[in-house]
Amino acid sequence: DNLTAVSVQACFNYALRLYRARLKSSAVTVDYRWPAGDVWVRADLVRLEQVLVNLIGNALQAMADCSAPLLILSIETSGQEVRIGVRDTGPGIAEAHLKRVFEPFFTTKTTGKGLGLGLSISARIVDDLGGRLEAVNDSGALFTVSLAACAAPA
Ligand code: ADP
Ligand code: MG
Repeated sequence: DNLTAVSVQACFNYALRLYRARLKSSAVTVDYRWPAGDVWVRADLVRLEQVLVNLIGNALQAMADCSAPLLILSIETSGQEVRIGVRDTGPGIAEAHLKRVFEPFFTTKTTGKGLGLGLSISARIVDDLGGRLEAVNDSGALFTVSLAACAAPA
């Protein structure tokens, strides 16, 4: 692993570059609820970016039939903890599935659309960083990555 101080905002922006074309040609509104100044976590930039790519991809897929799709990307600091949120206004996660979405190969998507590995790999990456990945419903699905804050790089 390649752990350094990573700006969460920069990481979101890297992840969003992959979806730029798709976002442009869609009705999705992106709401950035994050502070202007960089929030730093100790992480492997490429791996944390992969987690955000997975979460954003799932959120966009979940909102495919949404009339006013809204993607809310948030960064909050609470004491020494940083909470990174990816929230959508899709149908949310069935109560019976909430505990299973992190299982390898769990998918509700039709064949070919999903392998069911994104969240299990993401949970593993966050776990390896000493953090947590959680899912709840909050008028749509809300995924939260919690990580320890770290100092800005020198
Ligand atoms: P895949 O996307 O290939 O199905 P994931 O591991 O990324 O696999 O997600 C597993 C399952 O979790 C999805 O099939 C879906 O049922 C559920 N899920 C993930 N993200 C969302 C979301 N934003 N809204 C609703 N359900 C979701
Ligand atoms: Mg996925």
